[in-house]
Amino acid sequence: MKARAELYRELPSVDELLRSADVAEFSGQEGQAAVADACRAVLARLRTQIAAGYLDAEKLKVELSKLREVVQEELERALGYSLRTVINATGVILHTNLGRAPIAAAALQHIRETAGTYSNLEYDLDSGERGKRDVHVERLFRKLLSLSTGEGARASISENVSTIVVNNNAAAVLLALNTLAEGGEVVVSRGELVEIGGSFRIPDVMGKSGAILREVGTTNRTRIADFENAINERTRLLLRVHRSNFEMSGFTEQSSLREMVALARKHNLPLVEDLGSGALFDLSSVGIQNEPGVVDSLRAGVDVVTYSGDKLLGGPQAGLISGREDLVKKMRGNSLFRALRVDKLIYAALEATLLAYIKRDYDVVPTLRMMRAPKAEIARRAGAIMTKIKSAGGGARPTQLHAELLDGESLLGGGSAPSSTLPTTLIALTCYSLTANELATRLRASDPPVIARVDDGRVLLDLRTVFPEQDEVLSREIVRAAAVQKIS
Ligand SMILES: *Cc1c(COP(=O)(O)O)cnc(C)c1O
Repeated sequence: MKARAELYRELPSVDELLRSADVAEFSGQEGQAAVADACRAVLARLRTQIAAGYLDAEKLKVELSKLREVVQEELERALGYSLRTVINATGVILHTNLGRAPIAAAALQHIRETAGTYSNLEYDLDSGERGKRDVHVERLFRKLLSLSTGEGARASISENVSTIVVNNNAAAVLLALNTLAEGGEVVVSRGELVEIGGSFRIPDVMGKSGAILREVGTTNRTRIADFENAINERTRLLLRVHRSNFEMSGFTEQSSLREMVALARKHNLPLVEDLGSGALFDLSSVGIQNEPGVVDSLRAGVDVVTYSGDKLLGGPQAGLISGREDLVKKMRGNSLFRALRVDKLIYAALEATLLAYIKRDYDVVPTLRMMRAPKAEIARRAGAIMTKIKSAGGGARPTQLHAELLDGESLLGGGSAPSSTLPTTLIALTCYSLTANELATRLRASDPPVIARVDDGRVLLDLRTVFPEQDEVLSREIVRAAAVQKIS
């Protein structure tokens, strides 16, 4: 066996590799700099493998004979996209790790029309003067918040409701607290000092806003009297936070929204509610109860609500602040607002998404379409995929796959209604020669990657979150994943 020093000597230099017949032609296509980087990366990897003792002379020879392909793969990886489509077969509709709400085709179309050219983003076409970027969506929010509040006395709410858009809901909470409570105290229940994953913690955001957290009550019980006792001359606002990602049961108490509104009025303090998801859509129509909507809160008398654009609303990432005109106006005037503002792409996507709500074209918005999809339709698609899998198994190579349909539940997810589920039909896969985790890993390695749940030794696929036009590819990738020889 050759010493390592000798093995290193077998490696070409970057220059030699670049000039070699194998690799030289890539420079013409991709540019010399990119090809040199790829060569460097490939050679560095070989050196590491030699150092680790993975390669003897024999194996190194094999590796060196494949240099052309390996450099090409490295180039493709380096010059290709890292962000790519995946098939979400988890049944979690708002999956934060998978990009939360997919954006509506109409929204993408509107982005294409307006973002690749100049637009009237901040330009008033009537006067020829500078305008405000908010106007494009504010009119729609006004309409939506009034449409759903409906008749009579409620119209007066909508008249005075303004909405502004910032980067995300975390930014919305930060802006609201900083504007209304910097240097003063904010009263909040200990049972609502939540962490929403990805480092959003109410106490931390509060700290950054310059407001002082005044915790009241206990983890499981907070009464309205606890709030009242905490109010003093330094109090600037009362905060309510939706428990988006957990539930409390047992010996618990939470002061009602009605009580909090009354208390805030009595002391002339604003009541701010971080709704998290903030549905603009009547969730009870899909069987989800007890998830507060934006309109419910405003109608109940909350002064300002904050919510995400890419959760139940089904739009782009954004933080929405809707509420009393005078308070929202103060936030707009805060220099933080300038730092947290969003791009024209987001306004375009939001405008299109909100218009779909106004026209009641709910199926235009993927999140809403997925929530509304009846179990029977999901079962029908699952049955069609089962048939495809089985017929593929009848070919020359008998598949090792076993598939069956199961009743199950899809999740809203994404820090929205914690216990809200929708009935669904799952495809449960087992593979004779693979563990469930191995099969799931193979599905993740397919193109496009398929993300599934693993439960009780089975791989579970929920088509609620799979776009129907992906069904074909999904069937193909399932069969392929199960058929690949086991790599041991
Ligand atoms: C999701 C959530 C947030 C964070 O919203 P982002 O849009 O991700 O910044 C804050 N508060 C609550 C209650 C949430 O559910």
